Amino acid sequence: MKKITALLIFCLVILPSVLLGQKGQFGEIKQLQGPQNPVIGFMIHGGAGVIKKGSLTPEKEKEYRDKLTEVVLAGYKALQDGKSSVDAVEIAIRMLEDSPLFNAGKGAVFNHDGKNELDSSIMDGKTLAAGGVAGLHHVKNPITLARAVMEKSPHVLMFGDGAEAFAKEQKIELVDEKYFFTQERWDELQKILKEEKEKSEKEKVKSQNSKPVNENNVPTAELPYNKFGTVGAVALDRNGNLAAGTSTGGMTNKKYGRVGDTPIIGAGTYANNNSCAVSGTGWGEYFLRLNVARDISAIMEYQAQTVQTAADRVIQQKLQKAGGDGGVIVMDKFGYMAISFNSEGMYRAYINSDGKPVVQIYKD
Ligand code: ASP
Repeated sequence: MKKITALLIFCLVILPSVLLGQKGQFGEIKQLQGPQNPVIGFMIHGGAGVIKKGSLTPEKEKEYRDKLTEVVLAGYKALQDGKSSVDAVEIAIRMLEDSPLFNAGKGAVFNHDGKNELDSSIMDGKTLAAGGVAGLHHVKNPITLARAVMEKSPHVLMFGDGAEAFAKEQKIELVDEKYFFTQERWDELQKILKEEKEKSEKEKVKSQNSKPVNENNVPTAELPYNKFGTVGAVALDRNGNLAAGTSTGGMTNKKYGRVGDTPIIGAGTYANNNSCAVSGTGWGEYFLRLNVARDISAIMEYQAQTVQTAADRVIQQKLQKAGGDGGVIVMDKFGYMAISFNSEGMYRAYINSDGKPVVQIYKD
């Protein structure tokens, strides 16, 4: 009996005080074993496009910088608190979707019919599980629905009414279409529609055969308006798991149920613990044709290239040569990061090795 009492006192009183440390008496023991600084990493983007220095007013630029800082810190804090890379990606993208500054969620661009049509995807690098959603009109945070597709359904991709029915079933917040309206995006659509009308009137006069084409044989009238604004995030958590996510309203004036690269795993989003996590933004048709996100991962996996070399090879060489534009944020399994874009600018932010946020917009 005496032995049992002594053992109990040792286990309940003495052992915990030795392990945890008692301030003043034994000095503070912070951690007995294990890594002092688990490697974590976090990056976001708010879209690539023609964002020239001087094109934003100082006030607007500050708004972008403040929001990007707030979001990158929130995602990083989630990782510091021990949350998973998938959690951090969802948290950050929800914040970007809720901001009218970006072309995702609130602030999404309008399609040709004057509607907001949202796409998103997410991927877990540990399991290669993935979820994508396209053509949404009522889901407040498409990234959360993409995650539900990944975690709560046997499918990878859902679109339109079916995806929204699944959202309802999963009790994911639905909103009236009016929620997505912003005057700025509406005015952008009106401007484009007006230009389109003027162009088609002029073309009626000209012969159809003399329609100008660029070097890729794409009629120039169909080239997209060069301002994007999609959002995305990539993360590495303390368990060494990578994740990536992307969300968008697509491209202004898109027609016929057009779906871009953002909800497509391998095109706009990819994550694999054996290589890297990628989120892209840019002219979706090219990201789809080139399978941009998966291609970067494959170059790393099969050719053992560094994250920056792989990203540059796809963006600066392949995408550039094909005539597409845009950019990517990439994080590898060791926490090395790369940003590559061939557009004028790209809203982007990451946490550097000192744990400080770095926010950039232009080619600097
Ligand atoms: N990639 C998106 C799309 O084509 C647009 C963007 O990145 O801004 O739908």
